[in-house]
Amino acid sequence: MAHYIPENLPNRIQHYIDGEFVDSISGSTFDVLDPVSNQNYATAAAGQQEDIDRAVASAKRAFDFGPWPRMLPRARARVLHGIADAVEAQDSRLAELETFDTGLPITQALGQAQRAAENFRFFADLIVAQSDDTYKVPGRQVNYVNRKPKGVAGLITPWNTPFMLESWKLAPALASGCTVVLKPAEFTPLSASLWASIFEEAGLPKGVFNLVHGLGEQAGDALVKHPDVPLISFTGESSTGQTIFANCAVNLKGMSMELGGKSPAIVFADADLDAAIDSTLFGVFSLNGERCTAGSRILVERPIYAEFLERYAARAKNIIVGDPHDERTEVGALVHPEHYDKVMSYVEIGKSEGRLLAGGGRPDHLPDGNYVSPTVFADVAADARIFQEEIFGPVVAITPFDTDEEALELANGVRYGLAAYIWTQDLTRAHTFAQAVESGMVWLNSHNVRDLRTPFGGVKASGLGHEGGYRSIDFYTDQQAVHITIGDVHTARFGATAPD
Ligand code: NAD
Repeated sequence: MAHYIPENLPNRIQHYIDGEFVDSISGSTFDVLDPVSNQNYATAAAGQQEDIDRAVASAKRAFDFGPWPRMLPRARARVLHGIADAVEAQDSRLAELETFDTGLPITQALGQAQRAAENFRFFADLIVAQSDDTYKVPGRQVNYVNRKPKGVAGLITPWNTPFMLESWKLAPALASGCTVVLKPAEFTPLSASLWASIFEEAGLPKGVFNLVHGLGEQAGDALVKHPDVPLISFTGESSTGQTIFANCAVNLKGMSMELGGKSPAIVFADADLDAAIDSTLFGVFSLNGERCTAGSRILVERPIYAEFLERYAARAKNIIVGDPHDERTEVGALVHPEHYDKVMSYVEIGKSEGRLLAGGGRPDHLPDGNYVSPTVFADVAADARIFQEEIFGPVVAITPFDTDEEALELANGVRYGLAAYIWTQDLTRAHTFAQAVESGMVWLNSHNVRDLRTPFGGVKASGLGHEGGYRSIDFYTDQQAVHITIGDVHTARFGATAPD
């Protein structure tokens, strides 16, 4: 397939501040590559402190004086539903741009665009359904909670499924009445610009949404440290999270951290093996393995280990790697040559740490672009780097175990704790294991299917705080308690005792 280039591709990607597309004040830019040709197809404005200052000032004006935070929830919800409609109406265009920019297979990018629309619908409905808390002591007291948007939210996002992950922060922030400054990842700035026209079309007031592109250490850092930004929602690597955490701590900012993972999939001998193989393959190789919740360590009970390896490796070799715009493609091109080099270096490390059963390098038929064959290592020890470290590519480490205790020790023996997948027909074992495994999310005999009301987040080095459902709304709002005493039941004065 000839390299596909979407029509009307911009060659200049700008910030969007106070309702206008603008360049950086300094005029500085950075190059943006497409992962199939690794050609520079555009330059993006590289935001600096002064661009962040402009964007935050715009968001603060919209927050302090504009209608958005003051609108009734149902009026905000109407706008959010309009946004969802607009995303749905252009999901194919969104998917082709996202595929072009990230290298994600087009069918999977389409699913992510549809999920972005779903996120807006979900938070639109949630904000209307949410009832404010009131607590009554009959005849004496009424206490209620004023829920107030926190202000200008700084949203910092990674390059994997960028549009969808941006929606996961934008939708609850906007639903809550916050105004925002979004700083998308520098590898994948393309689709973020589409929010501007989508929001304009849906009637979001000017200044509520602001977008500043740029490098993490420049634009991202300036946003985190800005005194008029009281909260930061961050998704990205654990090491970046540590830096941002420290910078937020200085000003006691609210923060939410969705970080890296090295999630285990534990397959017991009594598992439905067909389903377990299908799902653990999809779990690590879909989205090119560039998925925070990837089940990138598979722990298999010894009696089925040999059979599992044989069937798993055979299936991995048949995964279709190719041009991400081709609808048959199952694994596309990794996002960027820098990331390709990182993943390839782990493939080389793995060759001395495990037994290579599939993949192990670039597919022969794809001499250019950031392609890596689905790579399977068996007999990987718990102290191996490919067992311990997040690779974020199509590489899996498989390890046998003999007892439940050993499986648990292996599962918990890494610094991360984002997701876990448990495959067994024994319900008691499944729930016992779910309780003991150190992860923010556990899937029993399933992969990554979740209701949007449930909490999403990790423990240990995988994150702090949870997003999802009311937890997201709690993050973007202050909850002020108001206490009213009825009548003269309790006058506060020295010597007076409180009534029973
Ligand atoms: P990254 O940490 O390199 O970058 C993420 C964002 O932070 C980018 O926008 C970047 O520009 C910005 N940034 C970098 N340094 C900064 C600084 N000092 N101050 C402020 N901003 C800064 O992560 P990435 O490589 O883009 O994304 C991949 C990582 O994200 C993986 O570790 C993956 O597991 C994680 N991730 C986690 C989740 C989750 O929900 N837990 C979801 C998706 C991705």
